[in-house]
Amino acid sequence: MINLYSDTQTRPSAAMREAMANAEVGDEQRGTDPTVNALCEEVAELLGKEAAVFLPSGSMCNQIAVRLHIRPLGDEMYLHRLAHPVNAEVGGAATISGAMVMPLEGEGGTFDGEALRARMRDPADRHEPRSRLVAIEQPTNLGGGRVWSRAQIDEVLVVAGEFGLRTHLDGARLLNAVVASGESAAAHAAGFETAWIDFSKGLGAPVGACLAGSAELIEEAWRYKQMLGGSMRQAGIVAAGARFALRHNVERLAEDHANAQFLAAGLAEIDGVEIDPATVETNIVIFDVDDAAALHDKLVERGVETSLLEGRVRMVTHLDVDRAGIETALAAVNDALA
Ligand SMILES: *Cc1c(COP(=O)(O)O)cnc(C)c1O
Repeated sequence: MINLYSDTQTRPSAAMREAMANAEVGDEQRGTDPTVNALCEEVAELLGKEAAVFLPSGSMCNQIAVRLHIRPLGDEMYLHRLAHPVNAEVGGAATISGAMVMPLEGEGGTFDGEALRARMRDPADRHEPRSRLVAIEQPTNLGGGRVWSRAQIDEVLVVAGEFGLRTHLDGARLLNAVVASGESAAAHAAGFETAWIDFSKGLGAPVGACLAGSAELIEEAWRYKQMLGGSMRQAGIVAAGARFALRHNVERLAEDHANAQFLAAGLAEIDGVEIDPATVETNIVIFDVDDAAALHDKLVERGVETSLLEGRVRMVTHLDVDRAGIETALAAVNDALA
């Protein structure tokens, strides 16, 4: 099976498993797991923040961050319509934090300063919710793996500053953006009060994510981690996989990006496929065909797994699919559409 469903499909390598098996461990919940503590220090430094907390998933990073920023009195948050918390976190922003969610529109899962400014509330008007939080994905996911330029981010942060908004960066695949842009993770996360990275996507670790921010915010995040059941015990076992990933699996993301480019260029050659390869910046390839569901089923028959998204097909490259696998996938699409 050539699994292009998502980069979440990666399996820990033998070397990563060995690092996990040999991890020093303690009681994470009491702050005495040395491997988790080392990971949190590494991620805080990587993202240019004071502190970080290890969590079971990226979704919990988003949910805790939203809870840290949103006050349960009609506070409104702004993010793209295709953003993960809008589509894939069971409405947790509303349930856990009582957030009003105002989705924004824009190209490839991004939006500009004007789109944000247009939604800002009048703080003096008692009828309106209060503008409180803006969140972006870097790179976008359902938007197609697009990388926000620093200029685009700054434009949004300027509006955020003008209206006193809190700021959050969903960096599930931030290291893909780092590799694609050549700018550091800290540079991407600069100006955001909270930011996080996921280890279970293209980095190839089985579990975990780290949320970073000021020491004060992360101390507060610990209370929600405990409340939501995200505090763990000998979590060094999984944190060791994450530390291994940060050492060995970051630079190689460039291969995934090259494979995504190759895939997009190949797809563009196939009759019946609509895609602009220039929009592929990281490891996510989204394209149009007449009948995406039918193509999906035919690809499964041919040993290729993909995902469907609003009537479109999404393929994600990662460390468990090599160039030969991409060639096989292209041949399968060609054959399925013939
Ligand atoms: C995968 C993803 C998440 C959620 O991460 P999990 O670890 O799967 O919970 C959040 N945001 C984005 C952009 C993602 O791609």
